Amino acid sequence: MLTIPFDNSYARLPDGFYHKQPADPVKAPEMIAFNHDLATELGITGADDPDLALYFAGNAIPAGADPLAQLYAGHQFGQYNPQLGDGRALLLGEVIDTQGQRRDIQLKGSGQTPFSRRGDGRAWLGPVLREYVVSEAMHALGIPTTRALAAVRSGDPVYRDTALPGAVLTRVASSHIRVGTFQIFAARQDWQSLQTLFDYTVDRHYPHVTSPARLLQEVCNRQASLIMQWLSVGFIHGVMNTDNCTLSGETIDYGPCAFMEAYQPDTVFSSIDRHGRYAYAAQADVISWNMAQLATSLVPLVQDSDAAIKEFTTIIHGMQDSLRQHWAQRFSAKLGIASPTEDDKQLIGDLLILMDANQADFTNTFRDLPTEHAALHFKDTEGFASWHARWQKRIENEDAPYALMSSVNPAVIPRNHRIEEMITAAVAGDDSLFHRLNAVLASPYADQPEHNDLRAPATPETAVKATFCGT
Ligand code: AMP
Ligand code: MG
Repeated sequence: MLTIPFDNSYARLPDGFYHKQPADPVKAPEMIAFNHDLATELGITGADDPDLALYFAGNAIPAGADPLAQLYAGHQFGQYNPQLGDGRALLLGEVIDTQGQRRDIQLKGSGQTPFSRRGDGRAWLGPVLREYVVSEAMHALGIPTTRALAAVRSGDPVYRDTALPGAVLTRVASSHIRVGTFQIFAARQDWQSLQTLFDYTVDRHYPHVTSPARLLQEVCNRQASLIMQWLSVGFIHGVMNTDNCTLSGETIDYGPCAFMEAYQPDTVFSSIDRHGRYAYAAQADVISWNMAQLATSLVPLVQDSDAAIKEFTTIIHGMQDSLRQHWAQRFSAKLGIASPTEDDKQLIGDLLILMDANQADFTNTFRDLPTEHAALHFKDTEGFASWHARWQKRIENEDAPYALMSSVNPAVIPRNHRIEEMITAAVAGDDSLFHRLNAVLASPYADQPEHNDLRAPATPETAVKATFCGT
């Protein structure tokens, strides 16, 4: 029998934080994938239960679950939306994992809630598989992220532009507390709930923190580190709204996300991001903007608001420095340099300029740098040769530059055209590419020559120009 050792702290918060309700059953639940390694980490047993699909479709409630839709607000593309909340998700509850960490288990696509607005509360197969593959790939890359525990076909159609197969994803997060969770109570001037949320967040994620300023600093640190990890693998989130920005510093909400192929800092994938607000290189500015919204929400928790505003402003401005340091650290490691100097920033920047001008594939260029394949990524052979000579000279005195490089420059990433191919196949009933991608992407830093086809960038024919939100 499926056993999940629930301990539901969010459900013990006051009523105003959520709406409790069961999931809306689906017609014919059918398991697509179950993440056994993650289940073990969460202390889940009995995954051979014949009713497994029923539980992860929301048709049956596992013992100890206390399903609820969480309340939050958020800035979407810069516009404040005073109420969002889980419109198609339900927190089943939390477990304490084998490392002693509290983790949320959430169904996504489980039906309507009071926060659904005009939405149907459902998800279709495409975004469910995309989130499964990409979030697990991010984890394997070593980047903080929510995880995927299960994916289930619902047997019901979901209507978007056309009828599509429905699915439910089970997501695991170190929590689902968002900048938008703070924003909603601050905007409503509900100081009591704001204080309760602050205490809860500190207790859950930052137990050593004693003041709002300190919490802000810690979240800024984690987010600065996270965003520079994204940049270092060419990840573009696509919807960095404040409701998709966690207090834990984990990546959340894989809607229209994608990995960049040819290096171009202004790359945008999301079809709804018309002005490039969330372009690849813009992500560093956006995170500071999002942290400023968190800061604004924290001000009412401090007696002397003038002093708080001054202190918080200093913290937000300090993010620039911290982002630059993380960038230099991550990108110099990509060149085999363990401790970057001021001059190394120039070396990195010059390579990126060459890559941009030559439309060099971001992932493959860095991976191939130690080999003779590197030059093949550049039409400007002279320009690359002269950069290469400077770089070789620079790493002469590094201890093990190539070992460092292969531990930070992935060979394989979830390329967007492969994700699209996987979704098309799965809609037709063939999940083999989905399973293959999961297996190969579990070891992104290993050479897997038999899977070299997954390293190839899209051709003009297979390229995906835009990705769409999973709504
Ligand atoms: P997202 O873009 O997925 O971060 O979602 C933004 C907001 O829209 C959240 O409040 C979601 O719960 C809600 N939402 C997205 N898709 C749906 C849907 N199909 N039905 C109901 N609510 C949705
Ligand atoms: Mg969201």
